[in-house]
Amino acid sequence: MKFGFDIDDTLLNLREHAFRIYNLKLNRQVDIEVFHALTCIPVHEAFGLSTEEGRELWDRHRSEIYYSAPPFNDAVEVLQELDRCGHEVYYITARAPVHCDQTKQALIQTGFPVRDGRFYCGMGDLEKVHIIRDLGLDYYFDDKPAVLETLGDLKLSVYAKDNSYNRHLEVARIVEWRELLDIVNVGRNER
Ligand SMILES: [Mg+2]
Repeated sequence: MKFGFDIDDTLLNLREHAFRIYNLKLNRQVDIEVFHALTCIPVHEAFGLSTEEGRELWDRHRSEIYYSAPPFNDAVEVLQELDRCGHEVYYITARAPVHCDQTKQALIQTGFPVRDGRFYCGMGDLEKVHIIRDLGLDYYFDDKPAVLETLGDLKLSVYAKDNSYNRHLEVARIVEWRELLDIVNVGRNER
C-alpha cells in the first residue's frame, strides 16, 4: 500500500521544538502548558507577540528549528517497519523550495526511509491534494486543517495527526505513531 506523510508536526515535533527555542532565545520561561493550550498553529502567541514579531522570530530561527526538530515517538521506527514490509512511503511537505534538499537529507540522517521519487516538497498547502490524488495514495497523514479540509473528496484514508488546533475536525486521527501498525494490520485482515 501507499502511505503519504506531511513532515512538520506530523512526523517531526516542530512547533514544540520551536516553543522551546523561543523560550531560550527570548530568555523567557513560558510554561509548556501554555503551548499545549494553543488552538492556533503559530507558536508566538504563547509569548504574547504580534503577528509581525512572530514572523520575524520565525524567519530568524527557521533553519535551526527545521533541522534540529526531533521526530515524534516511534515515527522513524514505524515508517521503517512499513518500508520493510514492502509498503511505499511518500513525504509531502510544503516547506519552501530552498529548504527541500536539506530537508530530504535531514530525514535520511534521522533514519526515515526515503526512496528515490518519493519525496515531494515546495508546493503550497492547497496543492497537496493534487499530488496525493495523482500518487494514488491509500493513506495520508497531516496535521493542518487547511490541508485536511481539501481531501474529503478523495478515495483514501485520511488521518489527522492529533493536535490541539485540529480537534474540531471530524476526521480519523492518530495520536501515537505505534497506532499505525494496528491500522495497517486491521486493513490487511479486512481484505
Ligand atoms: Mg504539518
